[in-house]
Amino acid sequence: MSRPPRPSAAVVLTRNRLANRQVFWVRRSSRVAFMPGHYSFPGGGVEPADHEAARYFHGPEELRPSLAAAVRETFEETGVLLGAARLDDLPATRKALLAKEIPFIEALERHQAQPAGVVFHEAARWVTPPFSPMRFSARFFVADCPEDQHPEVWEGELAMGEWIAPAAAVDLWRRGLALVPPPALHILRSLEREWDHAIELLRNPGFLNADSIPTKMEVTPGIHVVPLRTPTLPPATHTNLYIAGHGELVLIEPASGEAAELAVLDTCLDTLRREGKGPIREILITHHHGDHVGGLEAMRQKYGVPVRGHALNRDKLGAGALDGFIASGELIVIPGDPPLRLRALHTPGHAQGHLIFWEEDARAIIAGDMMAGVGTILIDPPEGHMGTYLQSLELMLDLHPHVILPAHGPAIGDARDAIRFYIQHRLKREEKIFSAVAAGAGTVEEIVPIAYDDTPPAAWPLAERSTLAHLEHLAGLGRVVENQGRYLTADRVR
Ligand SMILES: [Zn+2]
Repeated sequence: MSRPPRPSAAVVLTRNRLANRQVFWVRRSSRVAFMPGHYSFPGGGVEPADHEAARYFHGPEELRPSLAAAVRETFEETGVLLGAARLDDLPATRKALLAKEIPFIEALERHQAQPAGVVFHEAARWVTPPFSPMRFSARFFVADCPEDQHPEVWEGELAMGEWIAPAAAVDLWRRGLALVPPPALHILRSLEREWDHAIELLRNPGFLNADSIPTKMEVTPGIHVVPLRTPTLPPATHTNLYIAGHGELVLIEPASGEAAELAVLDTCLDTLRREGKGPIREILITHHHGDHVGGLEAMRQKYGVPVRGHALNRDKLGAGALDGFIASGELIVIPGDPPLRLRALHTPGHAQGHLIFWEEDARAIIAGDMMAGVGTILIDPPEGHMGTYLQSLELMLDLHPHVILPAHGPAIGDARDAIRFYIQHRLKREEKIFSAVAAGAGTVEEIVPIAYDDTPPAAWPLAERSTLAHLEHLAGLGRVVENQGRYLTADRVR
């Protein structure tokens, strides 16, 4: 079971000028473990020092350490020290605090800060759902940024920060240009409203359960993600089921039929139903692997709807597993206001009958196992084929996508860069394998320790499968030949 969520806190800095409200949002670095590349607000975990500093804050006793953490994190991440009276040398104090040379209390005292005088509007507490390996119990406070202070992000855990109108931020999310986790998205949508209404919505989002866990997670407009626990390839532990539609709904990846996982799905469906969405029209699969279809039969029975996928899955799933087939290029229109359109595209390589689903409005690809937000994609011959996998990645690149919605792990932003990285990473590995062959390694067992010297030996059994896929690809290109069970570079064979 996952560990209890860690208390954390964040500040939504606002600027309300001439009826033109702005918020300061930050983008997390693409290298951090939690929500890489996602937009949110300055914040972080509550630390012992925050309990010490709590006496500088007003409000209910149990809230004060969170307020202290929110103010400290905002100072560390943006340089804005809420309540500060003396502003000279703030950057020096920020640097010293970041280097842990001074405690937070000293930072407050140096600048004669009286955070008790700052007005904080308390928003709801949000708890990360149990699927996540890192979980937070996060408090958000909305506070006006002092006119004489200007937030500035120093690159590190955060890649950037900027002032933006809430409506403009939501619009970037709508177009797939910004990944925004559920709490931040709700806060931005609330702050689009007139002030009293906004404050009410911030306090009562309306879709948090009794444990403050969101019961729906909209990743791009009209597409909700429900991670279901599956026996998948570590380090992944879950497969993402996606619910698509603004009205009627389509389920993609019926990954688990376990009662506990079906209950997680039902909680989300109930929330969507209360918003007037439904019924479920059909279930789609990306491909036949067990961690993607484990709940196919259970969900077909439960919801009484047909299941469709590419015809090449027919033999692997057995007769009758699919009620209909999807051809590459088929446009699936899901009725609603507005209708949601998914274009199915055949992308073999990881699996012969693999489909992706392309949603053009947010330029989002529901990518199945073509790419992963956690772990790597296995190309395992003879089902897996490196040459066609690389071609399928090129096909995805040509769509000019903004967002990848993978079957495992969080959404991936800057999609074209991510796809290019995947292709380059494979080709780089292939060159290492070619070099190993050129140096005399002739079997998969001899090649792997050389070509995967940057990978722990525990991963080598899987690396052997990928190596075989690369060797097949190199053979197809005429660069290596197989001769009596050994691989040679082509120029060595005459
Ligand atoms: Zn798979």
